[in-house]
Amino acid sequence: SKAALFDQDNKVKITFADVAGLDEAKEEVKEIVDFLRFPTKFTKLGGKIPKGALLVGPPGTGKTLLAKAVAGEAGVPFFSLSGSDFVEMFVGVGAARVRDLFKQAKEKAPCIIFIDEIDAIGRMRGKGGNMPGSNDERENTLNSLLVEMDGFGTDSGVIILAATNRPDVLDSALLRPGRFDRMISIDKPDIVGREQIFKVHLKPLKLGPDVDPKKIAAQTPGFAGAEIMNVCNEAALIAARRDKSEIDMQDFQDAIDRVIGGLEKKTKIISPEE
Ligand code: ATP
Repeated sequence: SKAALFDQDNKVKITFADVAGLDEAKEEVKEIVDFLRFPTKFTKLGGKIPKGALLVGPPGTGKTLLAKAVAGEAGVPFFSLSGSDFVEMFVGVGAARVRDLFKQAKEKAPCIIFIDEIDAIGRMRGKGGNMPGSNDERENTLNSLLVEMDGFGTDSGVIILAATNRPDVLDSALLRPGRFDRMISIDKPDIVGREQIFKVHLKPLKLGPDVDPKKIAAQTPGFAGAEIMNVCNEAALIAARRDKSEIDMQDFQDAIDRVIGGLEKKTKIISPEE
């Protein structure tokens, strides 16, 4: 299939206020916002601005959201593509796509390039395992990514953020100095983090007086931000189906059950290859 080349958002509206919790990760990426906004502050002292950082953490924990917020806070364009778009591609297409992406990004600098699921491209060379797509083609794509990263200076104004939940399978060449030499870990939220994320996603909803984010957070151990967002959406749908004028705690309880049910089905399908 021929997916879009890559996505480009010139006016990112997401800011750190949209990212709940993740305080340490936010602190770390604030520095990147600074690099993008005031590059000479660093370069005039002879400092080298890092080219890339790797956001490491389980699915749905807000890696994409945080990367977008960096672009939003810095007021720069956001280019993104997903490693999984590169599997099953014709020979040479992946490498050409990477080159094209970097060319456009350089023209729009300062900007952010975000590569989601970088492990799909960046697995250790020679160890394709049972990944779909030809290994040679994936290696071509990875090589072109390395060449592109080496090919621009630290003062180019392009910062590359990548996300993965499998840092262990990444080719070590990607992690060398001057490439993705910073790792920022993004963990699943604890009960306090979940409450904060719920508060963000409850804000646009019409809630009954019995809705208590603290209680909902206590009933959702193990949930990532994406699942928390799902719970809020489901609760609204359930309440609508019940012809209610506001969403109450019972709707949230039922929404939580439904999301847990969905997760259980998913693990059953996914676990055999883990
Ligand atoms: P994946 O690895 O599956 O790509 P991800 O870590 O990039 O996942 P996101 O796509 O950023 O996760 O998260 C999905 C959605 O979940 C977000 O768009 C947002 O609505 C919600 N979400 C996740 N984490 C947070 C958070 N910390 N604060 C607020 N919302 C969150």
